[in-house]
Amino acid sequence: MSEHRPTTVWITGDQCTLLNSALQGCDKSRTVVLMIESIARAQQRPYHKRKLVLIYSVMRHFAAELKKSGWTVDYYPERKTFEEPLKEHLSKRKPKKFRMMEQSEYGVTERMIKTLGGIPCEVTQHTQFISSADDFESLHKTPDSRITMETFYHKMRVKTGLLLDGKEPFGGSWNYDKENRQPASKSQKFLKPLESPADEMTGDVIDMVNRHFADHIGIVSKDTWNLAVTREDALKEAADFFDNRLDMFGPYQDAMVTGEVSMNHSMLSAYINVGLLHPLELAREAESRYLAGTARLASVEGYVRQLIGWREYIWRVYWRLMPEYRQRNSLNAKNDLPEFFWTGDTGMNCMREALSHVREFAYSHHILRLMILGNFSLLAALEPLAVNDWFWAMYIDGYDWVMVPNVIGMVLHADGGYVGTKPYAASANYINKMSDYCKKCKYDPKLVVGKDACPFNSLYWDFLARNYAKFENNHRMIMMMRNLTNKPEEQIKEIREQAKKYLDAMRNGNL
Ligand SMILES: Cc1cc2nc3c(=O)[nH]c(=O)nc-3n(C[C@H](O)[C@H](O)[C@H](O)COP(=O)(O)OP(=O)(O)OC[C@H]3O[C@@H](n4cnc5c(N)ncnc54)[C@H](O)[C@@H]3O)c2cc1C
Ligand code: SF4
Repeated sequence: MSEHRPTTVWITGDQCTLLNSALQGCDKSRTVVLMIESIARAQQRPYHKRKLVLIYSVMRHFAAELKKSGWTVDYYPERKTFEEPLKEHLSKRKPKKFRMMEQSEYGVTERMIKTLGGIPCEVTQHTQFISSADDFESLHKTPDSRITMETFYHKMRVKTGLLLDGKEPFGGSWNYDKENRQPASKSQKFLKPLESPADEMTGDVIDMVNRHFADHIGIVSKDTWNLAVTREDALKEAADFFDNRLDMFGPYQDAMVTGEVSMNHSMLSAYINVGLLHPLELAREAESRYLAGTARLASVEGYVRQLIGWREYIWRVYWRLMPEYRQRNSLNAKNDLPEFFWTGDTGMNCMREALSHVREFAYSHHILRLMILGNFSLLAALEPLAVNDWFWAMYIDGYDWVMVPNVIGMVLHADGGYVGTKPYAASANYINKMSDYCKKCKYDPKLVVGKDACPFNSLYWDFLARNYAKFENNHRMIMMMRNLTNKPEEQIKEIREQAKKYLDAMRNGNL
């Protein structure tokens, strides 16, 4: 039997879903699915080992699922590069055309097409998002206008009909944030999420990752692996979240507790981003839990907003503002990433805790990303691209499309205020209120200067003083700027000297 097949569908590691639009409408008897593991591609960045295991194992399991349902799959495991297996595939199958769902990273679709040596390639629409480009673009009154997440979220609620009674939002309000975001009390217990142990295939991938990426951060072993790599297991983990944690997702969404990694967060972002779960099915399930009376509205609305508001907004901002978005540095931040981002070796207990979650799990929940690691990076004027690339390499759910607007935009305000009208800058006061970290820290959250003073405090005031001209007319920062200008000049000088000492200590590895 001839091995020739007229159509190749090329699927990459973050597109492992049967909803992949390139598969739709293809005749299985005339199509081959092509999937390639390129070690060189994964060595381009110091990706966390857990992230590599997840992606390769999801790919292998998805290929097996496709084969089981009648697709022919050319799967090239553990290859050095993309080029050589692609050549093999072309000479074996002699395809007349390729189909590929658009890539989630800017410029990659075009780069992949170039490798096909002129064979035509039909690019199909991304199906792992709910919004269309027009949903976002049509909100812009002028090409330069800025669309807020809230405006876009409102539109997405109307588009999906989620949490709506006719045209009215459930409970009369579009956003229940005010009811959320409490610190956790000492007695508050958090349930551990369901785990999915490794099968033989994942065991093989773990061995491979340990062979090729031994110097990357992370410890992976078959005995301790606990993440889903199939849709079936990801759905079980999702059900566990809806059954056991969704109801309390809202109240403790921003809380941080020593040793608690997941709190009531869903821990599903990595599965959504590789294609195992679809955001709309999760949002609808959350809604059904509210309708069934098993989850409170504030939690359900908060969760749905993250999925159909924030996630979609971030995706659309990326595609609107790339490619120059990646290079933005509107606050002119130039400091190198300190060594402790890689080693976790710092005296700041909140940073040490956040970094330990990342080192062990390639995950930390949103507030550790934004208000601990991100906040420090903002206050310490770390260079945006270095911070972006660190997050991208370290986080299990990290991809260019989601990192750039979150890090360059939301966290570092380096985009000049597209994603957020004001920077998420906070002193130790916030961290002390929302966590128990300060109690176990060698620094004192109440002190601004002196050898025991918390670095977040002097760095916070230094940040405001340094960027005074940028923020003095920002109406959302009036209070912050007034608090700064109300301080006597001598005091500001002393605080800024303290900040300088801490920045020097950061550079010398003593912070
Ligand atoms: C500095 C920084 C880096 C981030 N990097 C990533 C990343 O690499 N990949 C990623 O998916 N998310 C990223 N986020 C967004 C958010 O922190 C994670 O989606 C979330 O913490 C994932 O954990 P979870 O599934 O338990 O989320 P939950 O708290 O349960 O939230 C529900 C879902 O909402 C979505 N979501 C919420 N906020 C965002 C957002 N700002 N952008 C995109 N999706 C969002 C995710 O799909 C998430 O699963 C980042 C945020 C910051 C501040
Ligand atoms: S005192 Fe400062 S450095 Fe220590 S945990 Fe609190 S905020 Fe972090």
